[in-house]
Amino acid sequence: MPNFCDNCHQKGGTNSIAFNMILCSHCKYSEQYKMMYKTTAKTYYFLTENDIQSIDTFDGPRIRQKTTTLVRKSDVKDIFCQKYQISPSKIDERLKELSKLKNIRQERAAERKNMTIQKRKAELIQALAKYRLQLRNDSKLCQKYIDNTINHQSRSVPLHRNWTLDQVVERMCQMHFLYNYANMDRCLEKAKSQQEEELEAGYFPDISIFEEAEMLALEATNGYPDNWPWLENEVCRESDAGCDEVYSD
Ligand SMILES: [Zn+2]
Repeated sequence: MPNFCDNCHQKGGTNSIAFNMILCSHCKYSEQYKMMYKTTAKTYYFLTENDIQSIDTFDGPRIRQKTTTLVRKSDVKDIFCQKYQISPSKIDERLKELSKLKNIRQERAAERKNMTIQKRKAELIQALAKYRLQLRNDSKLCQKYIDNTINHQSRSVPLHRNWTLDQVVERMCQMHFLYNYANMDRCLEKAKSQQEEELEAGYFPDISIFEEAEMLALEATNGYPDNWPWLENEVCRESDAGCDEVYSD
């Protein structure tokens, strides 16, 4: 015996569990009987889990091995109207207002973030200048400090410490020393070939090429100096100038 749609009474239809009635394929997709994903409902209608906890839910299709949950669109609209105390005819208007507000909030948050970034950048530039160093665009450490993302996952910046401004500047001084006073470029080449040999011999190096190069460089210089040489030179030059004056006669 053929089914008849409970809504339009045309022949043909299937049982809708959500609405507990027979619906034809036309009516099933009409606005009145629409279903939607619960997550979509929350985002689109600015509702929280708490707001919609009372409405009926239904198992949706599995998407990428994950279960989905469906809700009746009409229920969601009811909840929305209750929450914002409006009549159904005002739904679209209210949604527009809410999304405008959301955009404003997002813009303000982005502005605040940008201001923080500019402030951190200025602080870092100033702190580096005390050591006669410039902010380097190629420094991941500096960039991460400025963005305040230093504790996020990263292979290039050690995670075990919470880098303060002073620590970043200290590390930048060490970098400047390595490359300008400790043959770091050559040490990097050496470390690379050493690690290649180790790999060929079947050993997996337990430190990075950079770490190994830093060790090689520091072996030759007996570690980092107490006073950075480029700052000493500056003092020397100043005193040289003084000496010149003394002996200029
Ligand atoms: Zn129908």
